[in-house]
Amino acid sequence: MPTPTPAPLPAPLPAPLPAPLPAPVLQAALQATLTVLLVEDNPADARLVHLMLADAHAPRFSLVHVDRLAAAEATLESGQRVDAVLLDLGLPDGQGLTNVARLRTVAPRVPIVVMSGNDDEALAVAGVRDGAQDYLVKGRVEGDTLARALRYAIERKDAEARLAAALATQQEANRQLKILNKAKSDFVSIVGHEFRTPLTGILGFSEILRDEELSPAEVREYAGDINADAARLVRMITEMLDLDRMEAGQTALRLEDVDLRAVVVEVAALARRTAPRHAIRLDLDDAMPPLRGDRDKLVQVVTNLVSNAIKYSAGGTITITLTGDTGAETGAETGIAGTIAHLRVQDEGMGIPPGALETVFERYARIESTATRYIAGTGLGLPIVRQIVELHGGSVWAESTPGQGSTFHVTIPVAAPTVIVPVALSTGAA
Ligand code: ADP
Repeated sequence: MPTPTPAPLPAPLPAPLPAPLPAPVLQAALQATLTVLLVEDNPADARLVHLMLADAHAPRFSLVHVDRLAAAEATLESGQRVDAVLLDLGLPDGQGLTNVARLRTVAPRVPIVVMSGNDDEALAVAGVRDGAQDYLVKGRVEGDTLARALRYAIERKDAEARLAAALATQQEANRQLKILNKAKSDFVSIVGHEFRTPLTGILGFSEILRDEELSPAEVREYAGDINADAARLVRMITEMLDLDRMEAGQTALRLEDVDLRAVVVEVAALARRTAPRHAIRLDLDDAMPPLRGDRDKLVQVVTNLVSNAIKYSAGGTITITLTGDTGAETGAETGIAGTIAHLRVQDEGMGIPPGALETVFERYARIESTATRYIAGTGLGLPIVRQIVELHGGSVWAESTPGQGSTFHVTIPVAAPTVIVPVALSTGAA
């Protein structure tokens, strides 16, 4: 839309004394030329605005004029710099305060000053409530008032954005505090409950060793018990610290090409030695491409799942399946596109009640039952699995039929879990 040619300037009006500007406004005012998007379908009104702002210095205003709301939306969407919008409420393609709402949807950060022929106080208040920075009545504003209204609108919107950012930072700090607080109470409760069991064992067995006359075989047996309890304590502490570090975002993956099939074979071989009552069956896709990931952490994922499958089933078959799926096959469930490594660890054990399928991934969430009472655990294995898998950009979930068994699924994209820089942007090309 062509900008109308400005008519000769009218005789200057006596300038009212300007109110002192806050420091940031003055600073911005002295430096910038502010771009104002004028949305006005009446050419005479548009020309008047042009004239009123043509006189302003420090800052100068540069006007972009459109006469339709759709054109204003397109301008804001185009990414063109706009410092403020001066908006008429009676446009051929938009009437009333919906004009404000529509432009706010497109550009929530750009301040809007309404300039309307309608001198209606209630409408003005509603306009400001709906997000306009100011409401001016046509014919009642002069050049410097308009310039000041625009400058202040920009400054107010900036202050609003700074306030919103400060509030967001504060909310994030509160959220972190809540997490810390929960971690602290979790820690206190785990020390109270879980640490007590192995410590009681260590105390009891060491007292026997100290006070009783024992045969060498008995000494070895009690020392073995102490050793097992101490190992359990160390494992719990290590897992707690690991999980804390991961949840705090302090764990970096050491990425390499990982042959996930080899990882599964390795973990299964170890498991077979420790679980003679279980049959461990592997069904691994030969065409599975290497996965960009952290090998040690992936070993931990498979180990935790397989050791749970063993712990929570008295025997039976544990089937570990690995397939390279395409996004189309698993995308609906995982939301991941591209080739995906899909690992399933299936057991024929006690299963998980439907209400616990998700909570088992929370810290210290152990299913309390007569069957699980004597099975040692920390309730940290699955949260660790979830953290590692999510660090790799993947997902983990469980399916189960109580009394018949459970299947844990892990899906991880084969590509590196990092931001992929498009080749065209790379500066390293020869
Ligand atoms: P834990 O150290 O207690 O095994 P996890 O975080 O690994 O901790 O698991 C949390 C809980 O989920 C377990 O205590 C158990 O109740 C349940 N669970 C995990 N894996 C299985 C499984 N394969 N079958 C049945 N229950 C399971």
